[in-house]
Amino acid sequence: MKFDAIVIGGGAAGLFCAAEAGKRGRRVLVIERNAEAGRKIIISGGGRCNFTNREVSAQNFVSRNPHFAKSALARYTPDDFVGLVKAHNIEFYEKKLGQLFCRGSSRQIVEMLLAECRDSNVRLISGCSVEKITRDGPFIVSTSQGSFVSESLVIASGGLSFPKVGATDIGYRVARQFGIDIVETRPSLVPLVLSGKAYRELAGVSIDARVSVDGESFRENILFTHRGLSGPAILQASNYWHRETPVTIDLLPDGNARDLFVRNRGSRKRLDNLLADYIPAKAAERLFNPDGRSRPLNTLNDAEIAAAAEQLSGWKVHFRDTEGYDKAEVTLGGVSTDELSSKTMGSKKVAGLYFIGEVVDVTGWLGGYNFQWAWSSAFAAAQAI
Ligand SMILES: Cc1cc2nc3c(=O)[nH]c(=O)nc-3n(C[C@H](O)[C@H](O)[C@H](O)COP(=O)(O)OP(=O)(O)OC[C@H]3O[C@@H](n4cnc5c(N)ncnc54)[C@H](O)[C@@H]3O)c2cc1C
Repeated sequence: MKFDAIVIGGGAAGLFCAAEAGKRGRRVLVIERNAEAGRKIIISGGGRCNFTNREVSAQNFVSRNPHFAKSALARYTPDDFVGLVKAHNIEFYEKKLGQLFCRGSSRQIVEMLLAECRDSNVRLISGCSVEKITRDGPFIVSTSQGSFVSESLVIASGGLSFPKVGATDIGYRVARQFGIDIVETRPSLVPLVLSGKAYRELAGVSIDARVSVDGESFRENILFTHRGLSGPAILQASNYWHRETPVTIDLLPDGNARDLFVRNRGSRKRLDNLLADYIPAKAAERLFNPDGRSRPLNTLNDAEIAAAAEQLSGWKVHFRDTEGYDKAEVTLGGVSTDELSSKTMGSKKVAGLYFIGEVVDVTGWLGGYNFQWAWSSAFAAAQAI
């Protein structure tokens, strides 16, 4: 069967691209491996899908080319997507930091995308796995449900994170097949793991902090886990973390640790008791009185005060690893932006071949940015196919 375009992957980017191309009169087929399209959307945002952010710029993304996302983000903005959500009467709210969530369920976003596809006469085949792609003039896509032919082929198969909801490496395999470069992939927006069992007894404790790594800083909560640290600030930092790069944590983000200790120099309180007014007592004790030998503040000399201040506001943490793709919300790296037109997402080497969404080396921060990239990159390709 012949189509103008075949989209591989019925997730956020694939469904939206198909609907938009369909509106332009293109005959589009979406091939989805899962029985149900948009499964990652369904589990996103704790079931409420943080579908965009009020403020989005290229600075909210990690890519080898930090300018690549600009063009697509400018041509399909958060306001554009919010307009679509409103047109479908989906109620939403801002949770924090510009993050927009469905008030009801993330399924509403999937239903909206499917309705858009239906209105644009998109054909969707689900429960269908792609076996082989060949090119003989048009692209020939061989699947478990037969072969399909198209002039354009859009790869919207996502990244490697959360394999239990259907992630596969097909996008990277297709890129390699056509000689297209891939920036090394790794799990991100993911909890980080410490060596040994350090701080295990703090599992579940959450602290408002500022986390800095590789020149970027995030002010949100950190959460101790059985294996290391998680929480929004750590997930954000994981986008910038490399092995050997220490992460610096300021546990007193609204104050100056040195001033605090100098102000309390005459106090007979122990350091950990003083700090229990600022961070959870359990954490104050584990971090500032680990051997039970913490002394009253009025007995500390200048060097000891300076060391305590450094530990409170410049705590350097060396992580061993991440919790891997099973726990990662996204995949860093992917199809190299050097290989793609930033206007169309089309391959510079292979006419008619497009890559959109998470499979591309553009990864957003936590907070709705990854879906906005899916919508914006999908829209760019939809105007070109
Ligand atoms: C738990 C979790 C929560 C998240 N929450 C948010 C959030 O609230 N806000 C946000 O912005 N981002 C969130 N993300 C990230 C976001 O879900 C992704 O960045 C986004 O879905 C990427 O869109 P995509 O279309 O590129 O890929 P996907 O949505 O992953 O879609 C790819 C599709 O391709 C299909 N596929 C894969 N291989 C094949 C194949 N061989 N043949 C056919 N089909 C195939 C998959 O089954 C899938 O349906 C979250 C991610 C996770 C894991």
